Formats: sequence, C-alpha cells, structure tokens
Amino acid sequence: MGSTLLMDLLALPAFTDNYIWMLHNGREALVIDPGDAAPVQQALSDAGLTLSAILVTHHHMDHVGGLAALQREGLPVYGPRHEDIAGITHPLGEGDTLTWRGLDMQVLDVPGHTRGHIAYFLPDGLGSLDPDPLLFAGDTLFSAGCGRVFDGTIEQLYDSLSKLSRLPDATRICCTHEYTLGNLRFAQAVEPHNPALVSHTAHCEALRAQSLPTLPSTLRVEKGINPFLRCTQSDVVASALQHGAEDARPQAIFAALRQWKNRF
Ligand SMILES: [Zn+2]
Repeated sequence: MGSTLLMDLLALPAFTDNYIWMLHNGREALVIDPGDAAPVQQALSDAGLTLSAILVTHHHMDHVGGLAALQREGLPVYGPRHEDIAGITHPLGEGDTLTWRGLDMQVLDVPGHTRGHIAYFLPDGLGSLDPDPLLFAGDTLFSAGCGRVFDGTIEQLYDSLSKLSRLPDATRICCTHEYTLGNLRFAQAVEPHNPALVSHTAHCEALRAQSLPTLPSTLRVEKGINPFLRCTQSDVVASALQHGAEDARPQAIFAALRQWKNRF
C-alpha cells in the first residue's frame, strides 16, 4: 500500500468569502463543498491533478453549485444521507467511514445549520508526516463563530458544537467561510477582557492584510476565542444574560449569543 507522496491541503477562494478545500498528493485531488467548479478546475489544471473524489457537507448552493460541472462517470461524490442533493453517489451519516488515498475519514452528524449537515473528521490528519487531526466542518463551526440556523434547530446546533468540541484540541478546523475578522469583532463585544482575542485578532489581521486565509484554525485556539464554545465562561454568561438569555444554562447562553450575532 501506501504512496509516500506528501499530501497537501489547499484553501481555494470562491465567491466573495468561501473556501473550497482541496487535498492532493501531487497526482490526484479531492475537494470538499465545491460551490463553484471554476476555481477547482483552475487548481487542477495549474498543478496537473486529476479529481478523484468529492465530499459534500450540506445542501446549500454555495457548497454544491459546482457538482454538475465536475461530475463524470465513476467519480465518487460523498454527501449527507438526510439531505436531497442531486449527484450524490455515496450517501453518508454518523459512524460511516471512508478512505481516500490512505487517509481515513469519519463522518459525524452535525445538524443545526441544516437538518442533515455532516462533517468529515480525519483522526490521523494527513498521515505520519502531518498527523494533527483535521475536520472539514462545513458551515457548522467557524473561527470565532458558528453557522446560522436555517432548516435545523438551535438545540441541534448547540449539541453539534458540543460534539465537535470533544474532538482532540490539536484538530485543525477547515471552515468554509472567511468570516474570522467579523466574528472576532463580535467575540470582543461578548468578552471585552479576553486577552486571547486581542492577540488572535492581530494575528488574523496580519494574515488578511496579505490576502492569506485565517484558516485552518485549531480546536485549541477556538476554545480560547470562540464565544459559542465558551458558554460556561463567566464573562460570556454575563454578556449573554444582558442580551436576552433566559437563564444561565449553556444552551440558553448559546441561543442568546446566536440571536445577538444575527443582529450584530
Ligand atoms: Zn450553508
């Protein structure tokens, strides 16, 4: 088994603030959530790669809009079992696994943003040379923020983020949007005295000034800066109670933060 080719991870910018994540080994590529085919086709052609699998996290058009143009006979397209998406060849849900070019991936049900949203977790990362775990989170978890509730529920989203927060701290989080600086402004409104927010904001501003992605983040970083993962911290609880939280239960704090962020 085993090619010794080093696996590479790329964030392909799409639309105004989406990323289409690509894994490749120098010959073959896999993409996650190709909302637009053009940036994928460009990246394949630039590096001389063949697309050999597609993963989808949920049904929104900015995640699936490129499927039709990328599909071809025999190309596997993995996606959520509980959503209606044209072109899925391998429907998946919680507990399912897949292997692509030696990389093991586990499927997690993470409903909330949409009813059937799934995420892909690579417990061994990109192999022995790059072993920190990797998560393709779709629109569930963003750096310093989280997805909005569309056809799922706020309770589902809370449970899904709790589930993701139990992954290893070293897990790299590949989110689908470059929302980080806007999310950090909200996080600072929630926690004006969190020093980790100040240093992380400076770090991300420097990256954006060079048009570089602020992603992937890590779960360790997110636990220090993401208010949606900090619903038991006293400052977060106090702010949320001032912004409509019914009580101090983490679920109520989370729901109030999500509402507050919607109008922020
Ligand atoms: Zn979405």
